[in-house]
Amino acid sequence: KPMEGRISDIGPRKYNEFFPPVIARNFGKWLYHEILEPGVLVHVAESGETCYTVRIGGTRTMSITHIRELCDIADKYCGGHLRWTTRSNIEFMVEDKATMEALRDDLNSRTFDGGSFKFPVGGTGAGISNMVHTQGWLHCHTPATDASGPVKAVMDALFEEFKDMRMPAPVRIALACCINMCGAVHCSDIGLVGIHRKPPMVDHEWADQLCEIPLAVSACPTAAVRPTKVEHNGKKVNSIAIKEDRCMYCGNCYTMCPALPISDAEGDGVAIMVGGKVSNRISMPKFSKVVVGYIPNEPPRWPTLTKTIKHIVDVYAANANKYERLGDWAERIGWETFFKLTGLEFTHHLIDDFRDPAYYTWRQSTQFKF
Ligand code: SF4
Ligand code: SF4
Repeated sequence: KPMEGRISDIGPRKYNEFFPPVIARNFGKWLYHEILEPGVLVHVAESGETCYTVRIGGTRTMSITHIRELCDIADKYCGGHLRWTTRSNIEFMVEDKATMEALRDDLNSRTFDGGSFKFPVGGTGAGISNMVHTQGWLHCHTPATDASGPVKAVMDALFEEFKDMRMPAPVRIALACCINMCGAVHCSDIGLVGIHRKPPMVDHEWADQLCEIPLAVSACPTAAVRPTKVEHNGKKVNSIAIKEDRCMYCGNCYTMCPALPISDAEGDGVAIMVGGKVSNRISMPKFSKVVVGYIPNEPPRWPTLTKTIKHIVDVYAANANKYERLGDWAERIGWETFFKLTGLEFTHHLIDDFRDPAYYTWRQSTQFKF
């Protein structure tokens, strides 16, 4: 049915059509909320009504059978309501404690063939919630790493922290599979970014036939792409030349022109950034900083990447004060000490300071004293 102020059916229907009744009744009138245990929250409204939320870990790509099972659970306990969060967590909301407990126990009891959790309850508070991530090799055209693969491997290594809340503070991890950063990598406690390290290859045979060459030229942020004529199969063809020392391997030109593929088994991999956050608590929001410049892609389980992330998390958990986010901790002890404690190799490429004036004068920080 048409919604107020909406004159077309373009786009998703307005979110409030889908509210569970307790949310609709108390919209904008919530007094407070608490985390009762890992993965379980209660919101209390001015009216005295309560809304219990049970959060479980999901995946960004799910089978139909898995989604059907989630819907069956929502039908059984929540009047058919459930919601997906931006971190691919799934939340079920119920109105009373007894139903919440039955729902939580049901979710925790469901396993894959009696083995691993199908719907693990957790992902709240001072723990490690699910990772925000991007499309990866499955779905996008410019990835320098996969998304679902490394995210699964990293979250398997950190699974106990998803089910618990024993970190000093929330640890938010994100992965973007190229530097377009569709994920929230720039402001995460730990960010994984797929990076290309080689310029695109030029397929002279197809450039003129597959691409609007002026579009590819204008897509390049560093003016590294220019039109040219080349000799190909004995005849002159219109094509593209890349000025390689200007290229920053962003892949924008490939977005415009399929004859400029940039993926490369040797060149592609992952950089690790840490210390970003959007929270205002203790200190202002901050950008993440690069602490590992390159780790090769090692599908299917990304062992070096996974080990490095687990190590950073362990060192943070062992050394930070309660309530201190990873970036707050690194700033308190000094980034020099961060590198000493973690044992990560420091190189001059890692010097960065994203405070505004420094941002405009790129890489001029004197904060590092090695
Ligand atoms: Fe595609 Fe890059 Fe976004 Fe990944 S981060 S989904 S490769 S644009
Ligand atoms: Fe330009 Fe980016 Fe293409 Fe390099 S990868 S040529 S910087 S658009």
